[in-house]
Amino acid sequence: MKVLLVEDDAMIASGLAYALEQEGYEVTAAGSVSEALAALRQGGVSLVLLDVGLPDGDGYAVCRAAKQERDLPVIFLTAVEDEGNVVKGLDMGADDYITKPFRIRELLSRIRSVMRRCEGRTERDDPAGELRFGAIRIFPREAKVWKDGRDVPLTGMEYRLLLRLARHPGQVFSRNQLLEGIWDVSGDFVNDNTLTVYIKRLREKLEDDPAHPELIRTVRGLGYCLGGK
Ligand code: CA
Repeated sequence: MKVLLVEDDAMIASGLAYALEQEGYEVTAAGSVSEALAALRQGGVSLVLLDVGLPDGDGYAVCRAAKQERDLPVIFLTAVEDEGNVVKGLDMGADDYITKPFRIRELLSRIRSVMRRCEGRTERDDPAGELRFGAIRIFPREAKVWKDGRDVPLTGMEYRLLLRLARHPGQVFSRNQLLEGIWDVSGDFVNDNTLTVYIKRLREKLEDDPAHPELIRTVRGLGYCLGGK
């Protein structure tokens, strides 16, 4: 998943970019309104982190572009004294804001929750939204999964895990990201070992050769990734 990070403070920008990359996000950095608009035009962006005060204008122009063209999720990075700006940003459709200085953990959790809300938005806009990966087809509306045209019975937990990966093909999810997503939806207790078991079961049910998975890949040292090879 690609994050467009719009921030003119080079220290903040490089620290954030590093932390986001550690979590498996791809980061495009922009230090001005014009750079940000150019990056949006290039496409591929899934979420915008947006500073308000920029050298050639303010972040609102970027927010407007991000919202109008593809309704991209936007999180404003604001200074403490910017309360008026926060209101303006939210009025313009920003999905959330976070006040500087913030802890990276806090930002990551905001990003995840905004992305979850947006996944719901996409699903409502396109309820049939079938997902296809080779012989595998996922029907979110019916919560059904087919392989080679045949229904594959999955437990609720296996299904949620699969859907989370499948919604962002090619994105590497850390184990923690997957655990948090699952915890949030069901409230069941899931620990690290259990996650390994669920991935194994999903592979047994969906992969042609579970010992050499091609659908749900392990990305060494980082986590798991579905498709997008
Ligand atoms: Ca600034």
